[in-house]
Amino acid sequence: MAEELNFLPLLTGSFATPAAENPTVAMVEAAYQALDLDARYINCDVAPEGLADAVRGAVAMGWAGFNCSIPHKIAVMALLDEIAPSAAIIGAVNCVVIREGRLIGENTDGRGFLTSLSEVIDPARRSVVLFGAGGAARAIAVELALAGAGPIRIVNRSARSGEELAALVSEKTGASATFEPWDECYRIPDGVEIVVNATSIGLYPDVGAMPNLAPDTLRPGMVVADVIPNPPRTRLIREAEARGCVPLDGLGMLVNQGVISIALWTGLAADPGVMRRKLEEIFGV
Ligand code: NDP
Repeated sequence: MAEELNFLPLLTGSFATPAAENPTVAMVEAAYQALDLDARYINCDVAPEGLADAVRGAVAMGWAGFNCSIPHKIAVMALLDEIAPSAAIIGAVNCVVIREGRLIGENTDGRGFLTSLSEVIDPARRSVVLFGAGGAARAIAVELALAGAGPIRIVNRSARSGEELAALVSEKTGASATFEPWDECYRIPDGVEIVVNATSIGLYPDVGAMPNLAPDTLRPGMVVADVIPNPPRTRLIREAEARGCVPLDGLGMLVNQGVISIALWTGLAADPGVMRRKLEEIFGV
């Protein structure tokens, strides 16, 4: 039996629900092919009540690891042997590495965002406005803070989660993070160099939507990042581009979280260009 397992390709995958055409699968498989790696990345629809069995199954089948998406990112933590420091602060795991039967939880979302951001700006000591306080915003806020960014203004519709995130970031990282209410059109203060939309505003099919901010406060040279991967050219990105800002679309974050996951599972450096091209093909860019 053990010998049979040795002939299996390296298995990684995503525990997600509900079933959907998954661009991440195509992106990771394109990376594996370009690496000439005998590996597969498969999407498994796992119901919340089946998560523990699915994780045991992955270990039993000799998987190298897997990604978790909503709703498993928090629940999976109780099933792991070890949680990486930033994932522990974020309070969510999107990538699990299986090494010698031990399960290690990582969060590659925020790190993927940071890699993408670092291609255009070093976030250290930069003043940031971050829209949103959900899962993506938590991961981004924590990684930005750990990279030395600040002050970080967290702007969110719901005051409770916005205040919670600001408190988490300042208490756990020592960065300066404050909550600002978002009940009217937001004017980005002078001196802000990085603006991030980490809400779901603008996600397909709601492609005409844009965060409620004053467009004249998007100033030339400001880095404006959007987490929305589909469509990559959101209304915010187009508006920012037209006003002379440096735009950063959501594909960069998606690609780089994948590159980091693949490195954790295989030790290999995947080609971000190959992965991005695959996503562009899927999203018709
Ligand atoms: P959550 O549901 O956890 O959070 C959603 C956030 O958006 C909350 O802050 C919510 O505010 C805010 N929001 C939603 N609708 C509105 C609105 N109409 N007006 C104001 N605020 C609004 O989602 P996630 O954080 O997990 O995901 C957010 C987005 O990030 C998704 O679109 C997802 O596709 C994208 N994402 C992209 C990744 C990438 O690699 N590019 C990786 C992970 C996520 P409130 O708290 O008030 O409800």
